Amino acid sequence: MKQLAQRILDMKESVTLAADARAKALKAQGRDILSLTLGQPDFPTPAHIDEAALLAIRSGKASFYTVASGLPELKSAIQSYMKTYYGYEVSTRQITVATGAKFSLYTFFMSVLDPGDEVIIPTPYWVSYSDQVELAEGSPVFVSGLEANDFKVTVEDLEKARTAKTKVLVLNSPSNPTGMIYSKEELLAIGNWAVEHDILILADDIYGRLVYNGAEFIPISSLSKAIRKQTIVINGLSKAYSMTGWRVGFAVGDEAIISSMSKLTGQTTSNLTAVSQYAAIEALTGPQDSVEMMRQAFEERLNAIYPLLAEVPGFTVKKPQGAFYLFPNVKKAMKMKGYTDVTAFTTAILEETGVALVTGAGFGAPENVRMSYATDLATLKEAVKRLHEFMKK
Ligand code: PMP
Ligand code: GLU
Repeated sequence: MKQLAQRILDMKESVTLAADARAKALKAQGRDILSLTLGQPDFPTPAHIDEAALLAIRSGKASFYTVASGLPELKSAIQSYMKTYYGYEVSTRQITVATGAKFSLYTFFMSVLDPGDEVIIPTPYWVSYSDQVELAEGSPVFVSGLEANDFKVTVEDLEKARTAKTKVLVLNSPSNPTGMIYSKEELLAIGNWAVEHDILILADDIYGRLVYNGAEFIPISSLSKAIRKQTIVINGLSKAYSMTGWRVGFAVGDEAIISSMSKLTGQTTSNLTAVSQYAAIEALTGPQDSVEMMRQAFEERLNAIYPLLAEVPGFTVKKPQGAFYLFPNVKKAMKMKGYTDVTAFTTAILEETGVALVTGAGFGAPENVRMSYATDLATLKEAVKRLHEFMKK
């Protein structure tokens, strides 16, 4: 008897989580590993958020199920958040909370895709989009964002990929893995194109608070009423508040889609863990100075490490404007070292230098590697030094 379902056999393992697991396993064996794999802030969750969670536990509030779509107080905090950072008002029926932005994305794809519906995913893309689309029986359609255009796609590129089956466009700005940000003009052109062809925009804004050196995050949903109607915003607290372990994600948009996503939450996880919801209320409504402190730390690291990485022989790297990843092109470096496959090259770097990176292959970018700089500067400098030595050898 074949035990495993075809859908799970067809699914790839998340390369980001796999790279992190490999680095942790080698570390546990006593190897000197510098892990620049996972996109996860290295700061502890701000203390006032921890305290709010502890209070919720001690007062017994965290003991119980909540409404599937989230606590009313959390929805009200998200309403204020939208007003502050997006500049518009939403009703509570337009909000649903989930176990991480990752699960919000999954409930979205499951709610809107029928078999064969096409989802345009600009590449390089964050690893989980394509497998989630496939789990929902949709078809990912990859459109490459050229490195020369800061890895961004244009309306012309999108138009070439559009068919009668195109249902969704995924837009992730600032981008994981490239760190690039779409400008207002670019977003307006893409948004109007989506409205014209009745294509849903999935705006994954999870890095919106993490922008550097004067760059600005503009939510596509803020650009016009018509674009907003067409957009489901996905956001979460993992990155900006250093709360990856709490698993807080949320979605905002069309009531019918949002209520379907809540229905799916109700039949799967029931609700985001109550204690995390209380922590999230404090995160969104309490003091925001630690968010800015962490943002500044990432900016400092980026500015310090970018010029050093750019000097590594065979590496060419664009300076990102947001998120916390560098995404160097290593085509020349691979040639210098006799590799044709970026995953094999990433493994060789790990074996020979102890520096753990993520292969670009999982992001649809076979000439690049991803380096997370959400770690301390000393580690980052040592890692780049080792890469330099490896390439000079
Ligand atoms: N979207 C992007 C682009 C990401 O990098 C991540 C990182 N995990 C997520 C969504 C999901 O975040 P989380 O599930 O931790 O909220
Ligand atoms: N989004 C982070 C990353 O890309 C966390 C891991 C994951 O969820 O894929 O590293």
